[in-house]
Amino acid sequence: MCGIVGVRSAKGVRLSRLITVLQGLQHRGQEASGFAGITVDGREVSFKDLGLVADVFKRYGHDPLLKVAIAHTRYSTRGETYRPENVQPFVGFIGGRMVALVHNGNLTNYAELKGELESEGVVFRSTSDSEVILLLYAKEGGSPQEKIKRMAGRLEGAWTVLLVDGDRLVAFRDPYGFRPLWMGGDGEEVWFASEDSALRAADIEVVREVSIGEGYVVGEEVERFYVRRKGKLPCSFELVYFARPDSNIFGRSVYEWRLKAGEILAEADPVKGDVVVPVPDSGTIYAIGYSGRSGVPFQMGLIRSHYVGRSFIQPSQDMRRRTVRAKLFPVPFVLKGRRVILVDDSLVRGTTMREIVRMVREVGAREVHVRIGSPPVVSPCYFGIDTPTREELAAARMSSEEIGRFIEADSILYLPLDRYLREMEGFCVSCFTGNYKVKVPDTR
Ligand code: SF4
Repeated sequence: MCGIVGVRSAKGVRLSRLITVLQGLQHRGQEASGFAGITVDGREVSFKDLGLVADVFKRYGHDPLLKVAIAHTRYSTRGETYRPENVQPFVGFIGGRMVALVHNGNLTNYAELKGELESEGVVFRSTSDSEVILLLYAKEGGSPQEKIKRMAGRLEGAWTVLLVDGDRLVAFRDPYGFRPLWMGGDGEEVWFASEDSALRAADIEVVREVSIGEGYVVGEEVERFYVRRKGKLPCSFELVYFARPDSNIFGRSVYEWRLKAGEILAEADPVKGDVVVPVPDSGTIYAIGYSGRSGVPFQMGLIRSHYVGRSFIQPSQDMRRRTVRAKLFPVPFVLKGRRVILVDDSLVRGTTMREIVRMVREVGAREVHVRIGSPPVVSPCYFGIDTPTREELAAARMSSEEIGRFIEADSILYLPLDRYLREMEGFCVSCFTGNYKVKVPDTR
């Protein structure tokens, strides 16, 4: 998953403003970030590095006035995480004209396309699927619209893309619409960003959500075109976890969905608790919904430290355990002697939740009942969210009762799958069902 931003303005936009919008998408990726563009006086500029948005651009140290630019914050799903070559944007030149690309999603036929290009003598500088898109674009002839339409017949999977092509900004979503994209601006400036909340936070007027399979070429004029359409598969996990709660994604308010899911959970719950406690921040709105519907009081029984970065996150079990304990602090005043309804958005491996349940018990909770605002995750994602292999997914190996025992809870309740499927009609739900409507590689 990643966050992407693009702008074109004849008068020019400072890089610092572009970075403000990108910071509003920091939750979509914390590994690396970068930008590429052309200044109002025609200079090509770019910079990218590992790290959080603010840190990376502090290192750059300039604030050019940009006519056209794109920027990216990275959360890797394809390509080694800490390899600088995989950081976006990917930048190239065609006949002296800068062509740069940022991508949110994941190509499911990356290996095949890469193999084809390699057999033609193309040399790759990274292990990222996004580079394949740039190279295919560069190979095609004609206008940006013609290039993209032809390329769209070759790309499979999820690809929401922003491109700088000379002094034009190009934006498009794939024919299934897995990943979001919003358009903003006031006529003089045209903006694109993964989430509308990032535009609003930077005082940019939100114009519309880019439709599935829709594209724009922004030069002196704004030209709209259709890439192609295959079906409708926007990612429901964006609503569950990934997007910011103040965003609207795929025509729905993220906040509203999480609140409703909490209410549905409360309606389905036979257990009576004394206090509803979210796992912050991801479980907070679900817990508000649960509390409102059940009448059980909501309390912040876990306090989250905002000073522990992802650098703490390590693949080993012990490091994960220590990370949870460095990030979340139980509040004895809220938890001691209580029957706790502990609410989170989703449960993937189960090891983090087990640690949280232990922490809640250690300060004296009488009972801990875990409530999850989505159905069991039974299958990996191939479309841009880095869920683990099937073997690592708790719900792929265990029944709900077994997971409840594994996480050492008194009980566990998920959002019922049938209800979720009804609510998410027209969305991708493959990681909850194991059924894929798009061909996926046999790599996990
Ligand atoms: S498989 Fe799950 S995470 Fe991946 S796109 Fe579909 S709903 Fe989203």
